[in-house]
Amino acid sequence: MVAYKQKCWKCKKNYVVIIRAQKFVTCYDCDKENLKGKIKNPAMKKMFNINNEFYKENSFLRSIKMNYLRYGELTEKQIEAFKKVVEKLSKK
Ligand SMILES: [Zn+2]
Repeated sequence: MVAYKQKCWKCKKNYVVIIRAQKFVTCYDCDKENLKGKIKNPAMKKMFNINNEFYKENSFLRSIKMNYLRYGELTEKQIEAFKKVVEKLSKK
């Protein structure tokens, strides 16, 4: 798997490891506040209840969680992708 490093567009200070080039990548420090929030759905709560290190090192997982907190729902594809990445990181 090829990974790239891109500077966070918010603070322009920290680098974020990404898999695919994206326009707007944010680092963990900038995302931290947006990752806080109450999740009421038990299934979602369980899914997002992963090692915090995963959120630190993976901007994709952060973006999925932020999406959920913002819109209150995710597509099947997003859920699937989230679980896949978590599984991959757990094996490391
Ligand atoms: Zn940043």
